[in-house]
Amino acid sequence: MERKITEISKEEISRQRFFTEEIKNLPQKPSSYFVVTYGCQMNAHDSEKLAGMLTEMGISEAACREDADLVIFNTCCVRDNAERKALGNITWLKEIRKRNPRLIIAVCGCMIQEPGMAEKILRQYRFINLAFGTSNLYRFPELLFETLNTDQNTVVVEKKDVIPEDLPIVRARKEFAYITVMYGCNNFCSYCIVPYVRGRERSRTPERILCEADDLLKKGVSEIMLLGQNVNSYGKDLDHTCSFAELLKKLDSIGIPRIRFMTSHPKDLSDGLIEVMAESKHILPQFHLPVQSGSDRILQKMNRHYTRDQYLDRVAKLRNAIPGIGLSTDIIVGFPGETDSDFQDTMDLVKTVCYDSAFTFIYSPRVGTAAAAMQEQIDPEISSQRIQDLIILQETLQQTTMSRFIGMQEEVLVEGISRRSGLDVSGKGRHGISVTLPGNTDDIGKIVQCRINGLKNNTLTAERI
Ligand code: SAM
Ligand code: SF4
Repeated sequence: MERKITEISKEEISRQRFFTEEIKNLPQKPSSYFVVTYGCQMNAHDSEKLAGMLTEMGISEAACREDADLVIFNTCCVRDNAERKALGNITWLKEIRKRNPRLIIAVCGCMIQEPGMAEKILRQYRFINLAFGTSNLYRFPELLFETLNTDQNTVVVEKKDVIPEDLPIVRARKEFAYITVMYGCNNFCSYCIVPYVRGRERSRTPERILCEADDLLKKGVSEIMLLGQNVNSYGKDLDHTCSFAELLKKLDSIGIPRIRFMTSHPKDLSDGLIEVMAESKHILPQFHLPVQSGSDRILQKMNRHYTRDQYLDRVAKLRNAIPGIGLSTDIIVGFPGETDSDFQDTMDLVKTVCYDSAFTFIYSPRVGTAAAAMQEQIDPEISSQRIQDLIILQETLQQTTMSRFIGMQEEVLVEGISRRSGLDVSGKGRHGISVTLPGNTDDIGKIVQCRINGLKNNTLTAERI
């Protein structure tokens, strides 16, 4: 099968490097930038790429958005509240421009890729200087150059399913790095806008991914997180020459101490992948497996392609193969047509699985998706009551679930000083759960051995050993 999706060409990369050099020498170049990121890990990683390009242009990062000459909003549109928050903050920045007329406001990310959004920006938000979609991220140097040389606002939204390679990256943390393994999604869950704004699935080649991982190991990175909307689909567009399980096996042999990944779709979670995880040295014993609903009827309406029983079978397989594995999930309440009985099925599934953590969302209609056009949209008050019940249940169960770690030895990759006490540090254990332990700034970025001794506000506490 011929691969239809292409990496951006070497010529295009050189073209963008040309604009980077041009901006470097422009007298009207902004002296500092600030990127505001909304949404998922994929967006956080795109912001690291923006930071990489800006650094190469000789523009430095400002301490806060009020101090910057260029503010970029990297937006999300998965739920309505993310979109409203971004638009609110962008509008507020208009006030800052009164103090700093040089201020350039740019907006990028999924929201810009939404149908009709570019026109809305041109009409209603004329103070935005530059807007570009996720597909155009690699063209940022060219687009910024254009913006700096014209009085017009620049709006570019191309729906191109390309794979951007060789972009410079400034990573937010020294010890931890994201690696994108694939872009886009083909699943079209009926509630979800991602396939419309991030395009079709396209996998990076294993050679590219392994090369990036090898380079990160040489730089001393202790943990990598592999990113994709549905990592289990990895390689399907590469003529099935390398599956996600095979990719994981190759990455495991490189020697980076900790490897994790997200997100997995339950319908594509193979026995082969579970086996590779169980046999690996470096893949962490944790799994994010979004269930969305515990009701077969709703799962079908969501176009998820698995039943409750099939989901529970995957959970049992994971727990048998990797005892003690940390499990997390995503759940939506108030999906169109969700009855009390459907919701009780979700509550019941949560009690059956006992997750270590759950991200819970009220269904948010997204224009253009199949669910937005469904009858029986749920009264917001009912949805709000359901999410409260679900959160209370999860928090109660979590106390018991997480107490299984008490007395166990754990390795924590320290991220920073704890927000609760200046005498403690916090980070993630191997099971994906936050752990707080005594420490100081010298520990940041290091893997610290400790013993779990308690549980406080859904975080594990530990002593050093
Ligand atoms: N690809 C991942 C997956 O399949 O689970 C995650 C993608 S999405 C950015 C993250 C989560 O947002 C989903 O798992 C889902 O629970 C939630 N989500 C997506 N669309 C939603 C919507 N319209 N309303 C509420 N929650 C939504
Ligand atoms: Fe959205 Fe479903 Fe794709 Fe996840 S798998 S990004 S929820 S369409």
